[in-house]
Amino acid sequence: MTTQYDCIIIGTGMGALTTACLLSKEGLKCLVLEQNYLVGGCTSSYWRKGFVFESGATTLVGLDENMPLAYLLAEIGVELPVRKLEVPMKIHLKNGQELTRYQDLDQWIAEAERVFGTNNQRPFWEFCYKVSQFVWQTSLQQRFFPPKKLHDFLQCAVNVTPAQLNYARYALFSTEWLLKKYNLQDNVLFREFVNEQLLITAQNYLEEVNVLFGATALCYTNYGNYYIDGGLINLVNPLVNYIEKQGGKVNVRERVENISLQNEIYTVKTNKNNYTANYVVSGIPLNNTIQVYPDTARRWSKKLLKSPELSSAFQMGIGFRCADVSRFTSIHHQIHLENPLPHIGSRSIFVSLSHPQDTTRADQPQQMVASVSTHWHNPENVIVEDKTVFEQIVLKTLVAKGFFEEKDVVYYHSSGQKSWEKWTGRAYGFVGGYPQYKHIKPWQMVEARLDGYKAYQCGDTTYPGQGIPGTVLSGIIAFEKLRADWL
Ligand SMILES: Cc1cc2nc3c(=O)[nH]c(=O)nc-3n(C[C@H](O)[C@H](O)[C@H](O)COP(=O)(O)OP(=O)(O)OC[C@H]3O[C@@H](n4cnc5c(N)ncnc54)[C@H](O)[C@@H]3O)c2cc1C
Repeated sequence: MTTQYDCIIIGTGMGALTTACLLSKEGLKCLVLEQNYLVGGCTSSYWRKGFVFESGATTLVGLDENMPLAYLLAEIGVELPVRKLEVPMKIHLKNGQELTRYQDLDQWIAEAERVFGTNNQRPFWEFCYKVSQFVWQTSLQQRFFPPKKLHDFLQCAVNVTPAQLNYARYALFSTEWLLKKYNLQDNVLFREFVNEQLLITAQNYLEEVNVLFGATALCYTNYGNYYIDGGLINLVNPLVNYIEKQGGKVNVRERVENISLQNEIYTVKTNKNNYTANYVVSGIPLNNTIQVYPDTARRWSKKLLKSPELSSAFQMGIGFRCADVSRFTSIHHQIHLENPLPHIGSRSIFVSLSHPQDTTRADQPQQMVASVSTHWHNPENVIVEDKTVFEQIVLKTLVAKGFFEEKDVVYYHSSGQKSWEKWTGRAYGFVGGYPQYKHIKPWQMVEARLDGYKAYQCGDTTYPGQGIPGTVLSGIIAFEKLRADWL
């Protein structure tokens, strides 16, 4: 039997759910299909051995004014019970120094000067902050970017300001250029710091990341950073509830296998059913989308990034006893490693703890969770079957840094590209989205119109799509383009 919907949305990642919420608000009957048994994809949480672990994302920004998540929640009238973090992040440098990434700009600049020297830190960070404010303000004003149709160009032109034209040129320069501009390129410690920070926010290093994206990524901690009790699945569940309250359906364990278009109607075939719809929104990576919707493969062949340009992640979930939870003043830590990890070459690991006051992440009192992740470049070709060596390095590093003692570890498990492929269905388990590359300017990034008709796309391979803020914005843009084109 074939069931008819207004719109079928593939996946329950943050991009897909954003578009589904906004379309549901518009009155469309939406069906969201998720291959996994849990919703959220790379922003989710799962229970194992008495602990709640995060599937991927752990840091959360985007709830301040002019930011995509705040916009989405206001549009659909959903409030999230969040905790604002006093200290967004700590960095542990290779030389043993610790650096606190304060939200307040002056406090942060003083900290950067303490560690990296006073030479030009202030003008560098003031410039980055100004750019980041501009980028956040512009991103919600320019909801038809990158423009492809006359209507998009007109909307962009109507909304454009002299400041936007002035700042746009920074998309042509790399963050490396920015370091040179402030005579900071030979400050080795600072370069290493910038590179590792960019890797977690822009998925690439300073030679490749343009100034607009790089400056914004570097100021990630200068905006409100939040935590949600019980894990980030509690960011996703309210969106699912909203869609269902509006009359939509969200089906888990249902994998989309094929999409075809005939007589202006889309047929979506899954492992369980056939559905038809007037519109389709793909919230899965472009690499997967062209597999399930082969008619679009030629259209996107030049934009497709392959494994050597992408990364998966090595990840560990650790449950540990902690008698004094108050000793953690920050829950997010980037630790630079003395030696790169063997085989995959990562030079830092990112560690996020459950919030000391969140009692819902562990069954037993005085227990906490550490989520650890690092990049695994070129996942199709760099295969490491035995991850024990990574696990031991991570455990030793965390013990050495005083996170816990070995005897306090209750349980741990780890995952690599194969687990990611299974959890998210993403081609060769790549995650984190399409990295920033200098040969891809913002206006050349993958855009929301998937087939030039009534199919659209969003998520972290679609402009500007990195991290939760980027994917939410990609979902907003997919919705705006669909609405302007057809509704
Ligand atoms: C280890 C790690 C750490 C991260 N840390 C952060 C962080 O701290 N902060 C941050 O903001 N971002 C972080 N990110 C990035 C962020 O999590 C992702 O960019 C974002 O969640 C991706 O959302 P998405 O909409 O692209 O879809 P995804 O999360 O990829 O979701 C796609 C969904 O589609 C489903 N699916 C796939 N194929 C099919 C199919 N054929 N049929 C039906 N369903 C299908 C998948 O199961 C999945 O649920 C991190 C990512 C990783 C991997």
